[in-house]
Amino acid sequence: MKNKRDIKTPSIRSRIFMSMLIVVCVMLLIIWVTQTVFLTSMYRYVKIDDMEKMVKKVNNCLNDDNLAQVLDSISEEHETCITVLNLSKSNDIIYNSHSLHDCIIHKMTAEDIIKHWHTESVRNGGSVTKIISSDEFNDSYYSSDSFTKDELEVHSDCVITVNVTELENGDTYLYVLNSSVEPVMATIRTLRIQLVSISFLMIAVTGLISVILSKRIASPITNMSKDVKRLVMGEPVTFEETGTEETVELAKTLNSMSEDLKRVDKMQKELIANISHDLRTPLTMISGYSEVMRDIPGENTPENMQVIIDEAARLSSLVNDLLDLSKFQTGVQVLNCRVINLTETVKSAVTRYEHLISHEGYNISFLYDEEAYIFADEIRILQVIYNLVNNAINYTGDDKTVTVRQIVKDGYVKIQIIDTGCGIAQDELHLIWDRYYKVDKVHARAKVGTGIGLSIVKSILTIHDCSFGVSSELDKGSTFWFEFKTVNEK
Ligand code: ADP
Repeated sequence: MKNKRDIKTPSIRSRIFMSMLIVVCVMLLIIWVTQTVFLTSMYRYVKIDDMEKMVKKVNNCLNDDNLAQVLDSISEEHETCITVLNLSKSNDIIYNSHSLHDCIIHKMTAEDIIKHWHTESVRNGGSVTKIISSDEFNDSYYSSDSFTKDELEVHSDCVITVNVTELENGDTYLYVLNSSVEPVMATIRTLRIQLVSISFLMIAVTGLISVILSKRIASPITNMSKDVKRLVMGEPVTFEETGTEETVELAKTLNSMSEDLKRVDKMQKELIANISHDLRTPLTMISGYSEVMRDIPGENTPENMQVIIDEAARLSSLVNDLLDLSKFQTGVQVLNCRVINLTETVKSAVTRYEHLISHEGYNISFLYDEEAYIFADEIRILQVIYNLVNNAINYTGDDKTVTVRQIVKDGYVKIQIIDTGCGIAQDELHLIWDRYYKVDKVHARAKVGTGIGLSIVKSILTIHDCSFGVSSELDKGSTFWFEFKTVNEK
């Protein structure tokens, strides 16, 4: 069996050529059908209509003194033979025109005409129009002694209209109009020859146009695919925004993707540097203090032990953060949601900062009016609050003030973490949620942080399907917030 990969995908060029070829073939088919199959019937229909119009003209001029002149011009204009008989005056042929070569009425006597068509046209209300083939005429109308068989024979089909009219003076006229339908056959033959050459010409033109078109459409795509390969190899690439609207759009998207890749690559490098630095600092402290405690008598104090314990805790918190982020990124993190008292959760988180409040002069307050319950994973929500409050403490101003506020309104509870620090520039606001992003590297390095805290916050709040955001003003401070739908206490 043929593997799906083995089947060659058609190129743009062959697709365009095939599509255009199909369109051309359909058009040619329509032209063939209308020009050859239906042309005869259309022509006959038009001819019969023309004959009926002529009957009206002839009727109007039967009383004219210059009848012969008028009939001559009608006969010439419509390429039609006309024979007029006065039935009241011993069936005299009072007018006869000869504009056709192969005309049947000129091969019939007045008696023949009356014999074949008078009764039929009277029965039909005075007028009858019919198409008579040459075979039919040669077989059925040959009864006269006036012509030899050779003289009588006609070679083309014709359309005749026979009309019997009684004039006001009491005279009855019978006139026959005879027109050939042969020209259509000649036209069809010409059209067929023309169509064959047009078909070949159109297929050649289609091929040419599709080559030009496909080159124009495909070349930007081919170039882009080459550039993508270079990008994959790690080369810096700028995609050319040319060609059609779609290729320009594609190039724009690829350019922005390439920018993102560059940014992520840069951030990842920075993260490795940050993480190595963050790991090395506590490790140096731990090994340094341990060696001092081992080598210098009297240094085995509880304070030194505490330094080792604190640094080990910092290490483990960093490793946990990294593990959490990787779990969120791979989607293996499962939430353990239940109804929780959010007010109590925030309160318990804020009380953990007692040490900072009493010893380092921080002013961390939690403002709320009523208790609010939400359906969420308490451990993850605590993680969100710690990350946001830690950041607020790290970045707040000299007044060391951090305010956590709870607002309950219209079935929603909003938690705001407000600081009075340096704030974040508007054009950086949307970037801070990205992994590894740090606004001010020099400043932030002095403070703790690896640039993954907010990305963990974003992941947790996103999988809780709640809204969150930040508003900030440079040198005035920032307000981070998230909002949950409230539920009833269980
Ligand atoms: P970090 O561990 O570096 O704090 P985060 O993901 O928590 O990483 O934050 C990303 C960046 O957003 C920070 O490096 C900092 O530049 C900026 N940021 C976060 N919170 C605040 C804040 N409250 N005030 C000013 N800048 C902040």
